[in-house]
Amino acid sequence: MTITHLGTGSRGNATLLETPNVKVLVDQGFSGNQLKKRLNLLGIEPEEIDCALISHHHGDHGGGACVIQNKWGIQVLANERTALELGLDPELTSYFSALDLLRIGDDLTVLPVPVPHDGSDNVAFVASHGGERAAIITDLGSWTDELITHVRGCEHISIESNYDHHRLVNGPYPYSLKDRITGRGGHLSNEQTGQFLSEVCTDTTRSITLTHLSSKNNRPHIAESTVLYYIEEVFSGDLRISLQDGPEFSHYIGKDATSPTSVETRI
Ligand SMILES: [Zn+2]
Ligand SMILES: [Zn+2]
Repeated sequence: MTITHLGTGSRGNATLLETPNVKVLVDQGFSGNQLKKRLNLLGIEPEEIDCALISHHHGDHGGGACVIQNKWGIQVLANERTALELGLDPELTSYFSALDLLRIGDDLTVLPVPVPHDGSDNVAFVASHGGERAAIITDLGSWTDELITHVRGCEHISIESNYDHHRLVNGPYPYSLKDRITGRGGHLSNEQTGQFLSEVCTDTTRSITLTHLSSKNNRPHIAESTVLYYIEEVFSGDLRISLQDGPEFSHYIGKDATSPTSVETRI
């Protein structure tokens, strides 16, 4: 299974999951043109996408879901609240509930796991292929034991590392917004992401990508060093950061996995 972030951050998120038989998008927060451009850098046309899973209705995750239905007839999988908020085309939508095991093609299953986030019905996704698992977790202010249970020991984990606590607290945002971001339904700080990862990483965890870094309240080197501080005892694999522009690299977690595959061009 290959995991490639086409770009992550408050201006749009989309991730491509590929197995030998299917190509699936996780979130689609880009315009149609941006999505096509980013897929083309991987040598893929939007028409080749089998379906898209949408985590929640916020524009940076689901804002481009209608576009891919209308433009390319791509099937979208979402829970009812998300589908309703986004105004998805019912003809091209499959509805799931939390913890439904979704079978996609003949070689991929995906489990949606609820996470707390800002007036939305957000879910993390745990994808399984060939006995190996990849988790994609974004936009959550805290986590549940249930999430830990499903993510522990995944071969790959992509998770948001949204803000540096000191930068946020001392930065320009109004207090109400600072409160919302740091609250139970907000986003994870670098420290919280490190704590979560220290609970779920095992010796089967081979790669981690930190995603959705705030451009105002975070920096890649701060996110990386803070998270490494928490996980150095439990993780010796590959740690990467996905920024707003991409794709920059892919993680491959097949049986003969090596280091991440680099993607030559970025936009
Ligand atoms: Zn977001
Ligand atoms: Zn959100």
